[in-house]
Amino acid sequence: MTIFQRIIVGEIPADILHDDGHCIVFRDINPQAPIHLLIVPKKLIPRVGEAAPEDQTILGHLLLTAGKVAADLGINSTTEGFRLVINNGRAGGEAVPHLHVHLLAGRPLTWPPG
Ligand code: 5GP
Repeated sequence: MTIFQRIIVGEIPADILHDDGHCIVFRDINPQAPIHLLIVPKKLIPRVGEAAPEDQTILGHLLLTAGKVAADLGINSTTEGFRLVINNGRAGGEAVPHLHVHLLAGRPLTWPPG
């Protein structure tokens, strides 16, 4: 079981902002910005590079949920803004082998990222 599966089943506590049939959204334990959320599919897909054609709906759902949660937080505007990040593989910065989208906001985010 991944650490995120343990959060999904309630074995490990998390600050959960959204939970539906397909995904869960909770605050990152080590935030890199004032708002740092993780959008995690309930289905265990290890990483985006291993997603299958049948995962198309859930992959789209993750992005739609990001927009919805950002709207709920009042940051879904061109002036406020937010950043979505998916780390894939070791060189990509992936630490937890359970697909997740980072939502970062609340401070100016520079480009290029580190
Ligand atoms: P990755 O580096 O795999 O893209 O991101 C994994 C993220 O999960 C990290 O930002 C890390 O802080 C977060 N994380 C790891 N373990 C836990 C946990 O038990 N609870 C929460 N809320 N976040 C976690």
